[in-house]
Amino acid sequence: MPKFYLTTAIDYSNGDPHLGHALEKVGADCIARYRRVRGDQVHFLMGMDEHAQAVIQAAEQNGQTPQAWVDLMALRFADFWRRLEVCNDDWIRTTEPRHRETVTELLRRIQRHHPDDLYIGDYEGLYCTGCEEFKQPAQIVNGRCIEHPTLELVRTKERNHFFRLSRYRDTLLELITSGRFKVEPAIRRNEIVRLLKDGLQDISVSRQRLSWGIPFPDDPDQTVYVWFDALINYLSATGFPVDGYQRLWPADLHIVGKGITRFHCVIWPAMLLAAEEAIPSAVWAHGYVQWEGTKMSKTAGTAVTLGEAIDRHGPDALRYFLLREVGFEADGNFSWERFDERYTADLADGLGNLVSRSLAMIVKYREGVIPGVATDTTLDQAGREVIERYARAMDAYDLRGGAEAAWDLVATANLYIQQVAPWKLAKEAREAELDTALAALARALYRLAVLAGPFIPGKASSIWEALGASGRPGDPLWGSLAAPPTEGLSTRRPETLFPKPANV
Ligand SMILES: [Zn+2]
Repeated sequence: MPKFYLTTAIDYSNGDPHLGHALEKVGADCIARYRRVRGDQVHFLMGMDEHAQAVIQAAEQNGQTPQAWVDLMALRFADFWRRLEVCNDDWIRTTEPRHRETVTELLRRIQRHHPDDLYIGDYEGLYCTGCEEFKQPAQIVNGRCIEHPTLELVRTKERNHFFRLSRYRDTLLELITSGRFKVEPAIRRNEIVRLLKDGLQDISVSRQRLSWGIPFPDDPDQTVYVWFDALINYLSATGFPVDGYQRLWPADLHIVGKGITRFHCVIWPAMLLAAEEAIPSAVWAHGYVQWEGTKMSKTAGTAVTLGEAIDRHGPDALRYFLLREVGFEADGNFSWERFDERYTADLADGLGNLVSRSLAMIVKYREGVIPGVATDTTLDQAGREVIERYARAMDAYDLRGGAEAAWDLVATANLYIQQVAPWKLAKEAREAELDTALAALARALYRLAVLAGPFIPGKASSIWEALGASGRPGDPLWGSLAAPPTEGLSTRRPETLFPKPANV
């Protein structure tokens, strides 16, 4: 089985997660679940970025020590991800010893392999505490950071350790344009290529006398710059430098927001090259969740909390809506109206109705036992076409396209019921035709449970159990989709999958 090491960005411990965080985690989880169905040995990492200055401020405001605060935040984030059925295999926090050791070791390897790449210099510039980075003139509008127009930039001057990032410009340009290091989608790759063509400046990789952070090796007056520290988490979680970490490393896919591509597509691979380590295979940068046209953030997040969004129609519905409607590529809008519309049309009236009608007929006409008829129907042909289209989309991380394909099969199956009218076949005692129709519908439900599983894992399991299938729809079942083994399964009518709330 090929390995697939997948990561998400680690989040600052300075407030509850919002819909923007949720889109990223749910999208990564959808990819992880799909790769498992395809038979990959998936390792899915998530975690917390705990050394930011914003953490100290948040801890102070809440009357806590930084450690007590990050412990609390880690529990809160993890609780939200459990509620959203996110199935990560590991959870890393940058205050953990395994991470501190890896940061120190990676810096030592850079010192050893390329001693000129780290040097001491003076830095003066405008620092954004929201981004935790010095901003270049192009990133400043009206004296403020583009990403954080409500924060004051801080003029900072100090003596730091620098990383000779400029040395890696040509190598990075070659790796990215040749496709050996994939930066997707293309719009983000083009941005990074433009940035590289404009040239790279060296970056400061330490801060003076910060009490919260990882001490710079052999220079206890300096603390490792929080971004340099944070990026290394992906390597820390592999067990680096202990032999065997290559079982996971290099990462197959880093999933990040579009605002932090410079760190992941320029600084991170350069750090690894300087340490003579393998670089990741690919970075996917998703867009932002917008609320009434503006970016969802801590400030805007008060308009809609993640908890409210989960409670509206349950975790599966939120996962589906984020990936189908908001999307995993460009920015997309979240609104209650669209959420309710999608819930009713796609989930309650679409998939929910299909499952309920199909199983009810198998129970009514065949005492719940799925007939063993392998006749190739128009519904099976549509199923095979959908499976191909779904795979093409999912392999390209086009999650919206994957959901569209699966739900096209829902529509086709509902139409098939209308056209074939099994109740009429039953009334007229056309038993062979009725068997053919019921068997075809059962195969469609099997296929849908597997294809929809990465989007709505909880409800896919309910469909699976009602079908009477063994194992779970998230098992490596891809090969069985061509001819689903549904013959003779004992089905039952499930509870309503997507109940309609009174107000919708
Ligand atoms: Zn900023």
